[in-house]
Amino acid sequence: MTLHLFDTYARQERPFTPLAPPQVRLYACGPTVYNYQHIGNLRTYIFEDILRRALEYSGYAVHHVVNITDVGHLTSDADTGEDKMEAGARRTGLMAWEIAERYIADFAEKLKWLNVRPPHVWCRATDHIREQIAVIAAIEEKGYAYRTDDGLYFDTSRLSDYGHLARLDIEGLQGGQRVDLGQKRRVTDFALWKFSPAGTQRQMEWDSPWGRGFPGWHIECTAMAAKYLGPYFDIHCGGEDHIPVHHTNEIAQAQACYDTRLAEFWLHGAFLQLDGEKMSKSSGDFLRLESLVEKGYDPLAYRFFCLGARYRAKLSFGWESLAGAATALDRLRTAAHAYGAPSVPDDRYVAAFKERVEDDLNMPRVLALCWELVADDLPAAAKKATLLHFDQVMGLGLAKWTPREADIPDAIHALAQQRQQARVAKDWATADALRAKIAAAGYEIEDTPQGPHIRPRPTA
Ligand SMILES: [Zn+2]
Repeated sequence: MTLHLFDTYARQERPFTPLAPPQVRLYACGPTVYNYQHIGNLRTYIFEDILRRALEYSGYAVHHVVNITDVGHLTSDADTGEDKMEAGARRTGLMAWEIAERYIADFAEKLKWLNVRPPHVWCRATDHIREQIAVIAAIEEKGYAYRTDDGLYFDTSRLSDYGHLARLDIEGLQGGQRVDLGQKRRVTDFALWKFSPAGTQRQMEWDSPWGRGFPGWHIECTAMAAKYLGPYFDIHCGGEDHIPVHHTNEIAQAQACYDTRLAEFWLHGAFLQLDGEKMSKSSGDFLRLESLVEKGYDPLAYRFFCLGARYRAKLSFGWESLAGAATALDRLRTAAHAYGAPSVPDDRYVAAFKERVEDDLNMPRVLALCWELVADDLPAAAKKATLLHFDQVMGLGLAKWTPREADIPDAIHALAQQRQQARVAKDWATADALRAKIAAAGYEIEDTPQGPHIRPRPTA
């Protein structure tokens, strides 16, 4: 078998072969950095990490690019409402540039907690205004753009297969629309460049051939993906919410500018649901990874929880299910630790593992295979080597994990937990004072991506 992936563009699973082997060029839409990421957003990055690891496991050299949206994403995914960055600046009293820095740093840290490999290129929209203007100019030159009083718009009527990715019913959308289109000609047309409103000064705005303003949300991905990966690359991925608007428009821009659909495969991760509702930042009330850590969960328990569902299936978050995942992860870690040093992986299990990964990243069946292996009567050293082999894709950090020292008193654990809470609240003074207290009691803390690790201080 070879790796099979579900391509949203073709609406089917297809065998994956790179356009220029052994290289695989992979682009993933990154966060809009106006707020913290919630665990639903993080589920998408865990899926993309599994994808990347599976590609690397298959022997490919992956070049992974992720963008950072720090301008132009309006509070509705359409072209209305305020820029999320400017709204975030107003909410926090900081400059738009400062909040971008804050949330980019937080995002990178959360990926580390989850054992998600960082991309080879992080690209920020505001660092690529020149490239975006060049793509817009090319689109305009080819006759796919028109001007209104508030910006330059993409004319979607020029593409006969506009909306193919999402299987959009254009006639239905057009007939059913009740919103005021303003000067937009078609409900699906979208902004390439928006003008700064007359008489106001935005925190983020630039000069362009069309006037002072800022880029539309979709142009950054087409422009930056093409810059770093070329106008036609292997895989583009993101959350399923991007299918009807954002990715549809990225493709339209690429068709107009490069005559390609930008990527050979389009992959989408399904939402995390909370009490049956999609988890969304705009509701103002969402769960962050810290919320889990504060309740004593290892971030990797959340990763394990996500591996329990296929990436294309909706997953419902609940505290009980998370607790179940945490217990299962502990069992797996304890077993792996007890096996001692690894020998060589078992061929039969490796073949079964490969088959499940190649089945569109079937991680629930990979977890099932882990439990089969644990129950098997193979020698411990072979089981250990096999689990570590699986962990190349699972990314649960099984090689590094060691059990908590049993002889550390509860009081020390309590102090460590208080210190962790202080760190989460960025109260560094309290965190340092607690560390000193713990040290005075004869213990030291090492902060690892899996959380703090306590051990007795070595005696000199
Ligand atoms: Zn994008």
